Amino acid sequence: MIRATSFKGKSVAVFGLGASGIASAEALIASGAIVSAWDDGIAARDAAIARDIPLFDLSVVDWSGFAALVLAPGVPLTHPEPHWTVKRATEHGVAVIGDIEIFARERALHAPGSPFIGITGTNGKSTTTALISHILRHAGLDVQMGGNIGRPILTLEPPEPGRFHVVELSSFQIDLTPTLGPTVGVMLNVTPDHLDRHGSIEHYAEIKERLVLGADIAAVGIDDDFGLAMLRRRINVGPVVAFSAEKSIAPGYSLLGDTIVCSNREGLAVKLGSLEGVPTLRGKHNGQNALAAVAAVRECLSALGRTTDLDWQGALSSFPGLPHRMEEIGRIGKVLFINDSKATNADSTEKALQSFPRDVYWIAGGKPKAGGIESLEPHFGGITKAYLIGEATDAFAATLDGKVPFERSGTLNEALWAASADAQLSDGQEPVVLLSPACASYDQFRNFEVRGDCFRGLVAALPGIELRAGP
Ligand code: ADP
Repeated sequence: MIRATSFKGKSVAVFGLGASGIASAEALIASGAIVSAWDDGIAARDAAIARDIPLFDLSVVDWSGFAALVLAPGVPLTHPEPHWTVKRATEHGVAVIGDIEIFARERALHAPGSPFIGITGTNGKSTTTALISHILRHAGLDVQMGGNIGRPILTLEPPEPGRFHVVELSSFQIDLTPTLGPTVGVMLNVTPDHLDRHGSIEHYAEIKERLVLGADIAAVGIDDDFGLAMLRRRINVGPVVAFSAEKSIAPGYSLLGDTIVCSNREGLAVKLGSLEGVPTLRGKHNGQNALAAVAAVRECLSALGRTTDLDWQGALSSFPGLPHRMEEIGRIGKVLFINDSKATNADSTEKALQSFPRDVYWIAGGKPKAGGIESLEPHFGGITKAYLIGEATDAFAATLDGKVPFERSGTLNEALWAASADAQLSDGQEPVVLLSPACASYDQFRNFEVRGDCFRGLVAALPGIELRAGP
């Protein structure tokens, strides 16, 4: 557990008792803070009671004595309007922070130079965070990974010299962390997302940019206008490296075919490993994630005065990938089965269709999102047939009509059986049965993980399946 010694003896309000809120309350209590915790939900309050966390209804307590409000990142800070706890805190001059801020203060107090890599961006955060951790572990280094992925940050081992904290950061978490200051801040990309919670894309990008501006070294993806503008603003502030999956850049990290290269100002390039044939890093989007990860690790090691002469290829090739993101489950003969259940909108599914440009037996549908799948039309040519499930069936059928053959499968089970049979009869080189729903899962499953797990289980039960061995 990471402690919260900067709050020893102080009164702290904690609101939002999910996993990170519980971890914050426990870290504060263990450090001698006086905690008043609360949540609007009874189940969350019961979970806190079960762990001996003291509950106080924050709507009726006196706020004047609190040193801080530790807010869960899911609770609105500014938009659509500040949560009532935020209003109370502001009225009484109480700082509003999140659990990552507690980590940042603890690091500053007890291990200020300890390596800390923070990762943000609209898409690819989890993949990049997992890949950075994997590369560092592959090099035999001590790594703690958490934040917006896996474990709440305060449940990790504490910062100390030589221990790398690799932390995924959502914009909500950055907004609650005024003293972030990582060794390396990685900014992947910015596209419109969560605008209900940030008001505008400009405000959303401005929050993400705090990671870039506050880092000792910034690593910035420049394949969108926001990233490019951030690079230009950062250049005069401090060390920054750029990466691009779209074009060759010097200085910076880019792709030469499938090979990751780092070029200096004169254009002299070092090759750092290839993504060719790495099943867990297919597609241009994963090219961007891999560039970001290699850049972050290399720049971090270099800043620490350590060798950057790693087995980059070995690390990339052995990356196990994350479940539900174009996860290769196995093969029947030449037919490949891919679980991309995390693709809950058309933008994500587009990445999968770009990565598999032909012979796709596409399982899609679920609870539809605004805009449907019309934006995917440029990729329809690579789809041999679609198998539609869930509430989106009629809407998707209308979009596909006359352009892509489809059937109304209804359930995932039926869709898989039909797609698997058709794909095995295909004369394509590598037919792909792809679950990439472009929809939320809630009409038929509890969440996208349950949907993906269900798909994996169904595929594993197919006759003749050879499951992909872990690396
Ligand atoms: P996040 O943690 O930011 O949600 P993930 O790594 O979990 O990102 O990937 C989620 C989905 O986002 C993937 O399934 C893929 O469709 C898409 N994606 C991943 N990386 C990128 C990227 N660099 N650019 C655009 N889309 C991406």
